[in-house]
Amino acid sequence: MPIADKMVKMVEAASTIRKMFEEGIRMREKFGADNVYDFSLGNPDVPPPAAVQDTLMDLINDNSISHGYMPNPGFAHVRQAVADYLNKEFTVGLTPDLVVMTAGAAGALNDCLRALVNPGEELLTPAPYFVGYNQYAFVAGATLVTAPTRPDFHLDLNAIQAAITPKTRVVLINSPNNPTGAVYSMEELDGLGRVLEAASKKFDKRIYLISDEPYRKIAYDVDVPCIFDVYDHTIVLTSYSKELSLAGERIGYLAIHPKAEDAALIAGAAGVANTMMYVNAPAMFQHVVGRLQGITVDIGIYRRRRDLFCQGLKEAGYEFDVPDGAFYLFPKSPIENDVEFVNILKEQNILAVPGTGFGGPGHFRLSYAVPDKTIAGSFAGFKKAMDSLR
Ligand code: PLP
Repeated sequence: MPIADKMVKMVEAASTIRKMFEEGIRMREKFGADNVYDFSLGNPDVPPPAAVQDTLMDLINDNSISHGYMPNPGFAHVRQAVADYLNKEFTVGLTPDLVVMTAGAAGALNDCLRALVNPGEELLTPAPYFVGYNQYAFVAGATLVTAPTRPDFHLDLNAIQAAITPKTRVVLINSPNNPTGAVYSMEELDGLGRVLEAASKKFDKRIYLISDEPYRKIAYDVDVPCIFDVYDHTIVLTSYSKELSLAGERIGYLAIHPKAEDAALIAGAAGVANTMMYVNAPAMFQHVVGRLQGITVDIGIYRRRRDLFCQGLKEAGYEFDVPDGAFYLFPKSPIENDVEFVNILKEQNILAVPGTGFGGPGHFRLSYAVPDKTIAGSFAGFKKAMDSLR
């Protein structure tokens, strides 16, 4: 075997996603870009706010800024800016030494898992869940365990409680959620905090909560509660991939609750984990986000698309929960086999992702990080696909 045995399965899984990406390119070449409705990727097309370009230009002309190595957790002034912002938003009393700048949310997740999880320990997440978690668990040597959510994709606390074992080290949640768009309420998060406190006592082992929040700013008419308020032993992580449309620039951070058990040790380990992968988060974009705390893309664009998509899908006869956040819809597949239904959609030049890959069989995911005209243009195809089953 030319590549490591343990990589074979991971490469196969990654190539499924790559195949879909390549299929999109092939279909655009064959049918023309305007005749292909590609909802497969969560890659923001909304331009970054003008302040990003302005700040970049200022920084390019500023000879005083450093482009060199720095402490592995990131520039001190940037970590201070992040801590100041979070303290203003959440009043948690965060200090910059508990902030680690990372290469996106993926970098932060890898840091946290490397810092916390021993090989063979379990990472528990509600399903459906973001597919990247399989890879991050793999890298950390953790076993990914899932607990089902309720039919509306909100937390099923009994299922989480039942899935916790003596091997559970981390519970990982993501709200607003990819792929379902669910935003967890304060009440359910409070309940989760109580479950984790009780389970940590029961198994005489600290269970940490990781809250993966790259979509925090993309929420419609609902509060995204502060997770730090419900459980002390929490690490919040996020990125600027979605809220500033900077997914390719690889910039994000993790922040550890000051009262978390061994908070300083975890921050130190996360910083060292940075050195194992990419040494430090990209310098230029640390400088950029350090100056742009609290700025976001125009969320109104995503709200408009969500409403447009929901209306069209409803009229075509699809069933789904209207998402409260992120930029995904997760409708029920009209037939049991979601992979087969995604193939039926492909006959209409519509690209979607089967829910099975997210641990949510019987559904399919649509990303509305695409132009309005792609959404509007797809409705006839969605209707035809539905009608073809009658
Ligand atoms: N977590 C979730 C839930 C995501 O949807 C994504 C990306 O789509 C990530 C993490 C990784 O984000 P980033 O590109 O900032 O590394």
